[in-house]
Amino acid sequence: MSNSTHTDAGALTGTGIHISSLSKTFALRGGKSLTALQDTDLHTDKGSFLALLGPSGCGKSTILRILAALEHPSSGTALVDGETPDQLRSKSELGIAFQDHALLPWRSVRKNIELPFEVARRPVDHDYVDELISLVGLKDFANAKPSQLSGGMRQRASIARALVLKPSVLLLDEPFGALDDMTRQNLNLELLRIWTEKPATTLLVTHGISEAIFLADRVAVMSPRPGRIKAILEIDLPRPRTPDMMRTPEFHAYVDQASELLFGSDGRAEAEA
Ligand code: ADP
Ligand code: MG
Repeated sequence: MSNSTHTDAGALTGTGIHISSLSKTFALRGGKSLTALQDTDLHTDKGSFLALLGPSGCGKSTILRILAALEHPSSGTALVDGETPDQLRSKSELGIAFQDHALLPWRSVRKNIELPFEVARRPVDHDYVDELISLVGLKDFANAKPSQLSGGMRQRASIARALVLKPSVLLLDEPFGALDDMTRQNLNLELLRIWTEKPATTLLVTHGISEAIFLADRVAVMSPRPGRIKAILEIDLPRPRTPDMMRTPEFHAYVDQASELLFGSDGRAEAEA
């Protein structure tokens, strides 16, 4: 188990997620401002799976939204595989899924999954849409409307939609956060299977410690606002990962280490600055 911060290969090669001295200040009403991120540094390797763990409000979604080109940094840089988020977005290399599935209610599962082709003005690859629908287990529901699906099925549809243009970068913000533990666990296994078949440089924001460790190559633990990367855990568990690994002493050691970083040895979370 190693515990490194800024000396990763990604920092040297410029591939993978490459965030340097990133700060984000939001203007609030009455001339006030809020610093969500301050001098944040974070590097990963191309094709690796990074999980971002931290207390509510520490800036996890802000990092993800900057990488998704939905926000712009106040200062510093954010690159993925050597390109800016705007460049990646214009080439449709970003696949994004949020906690709120954001499916269009009037379109079927299939039509929702096809949507990114229309947005990118590309011909729909029907074979690939079929393949993804099977991959996420929605074959029998391809023509159903989102309202006819369970919460887990809706999230699976939104993950399929995020993957449909074969993005090289996958950004997931608590995609299963609103679901019960059993469904969540199943979807994590599915996500892992999909990611193994179609590896992308992945950032998963989560507040689930076990799920972060189970899925990721690296877990970045953030401190309370203004968010900084407090530590990075390299998860040296073999792949493919299987649920029984969650019962091993190695796994529990990682969970303990991450919990201590998040909550301190007395079990109490550090307060916001
Ligand atoms: P997390 O995802 O870790 O819970 P966020 O990145 O969503 O945290 O938010 C970090 C901080 O920035 C929070 O205090 C949040 O209220 C604030 N924030 C996020 N977006 C905005 C915005 N558009 N305007 C003002 N404040 C914001
Ligand atoms: Mg968030």
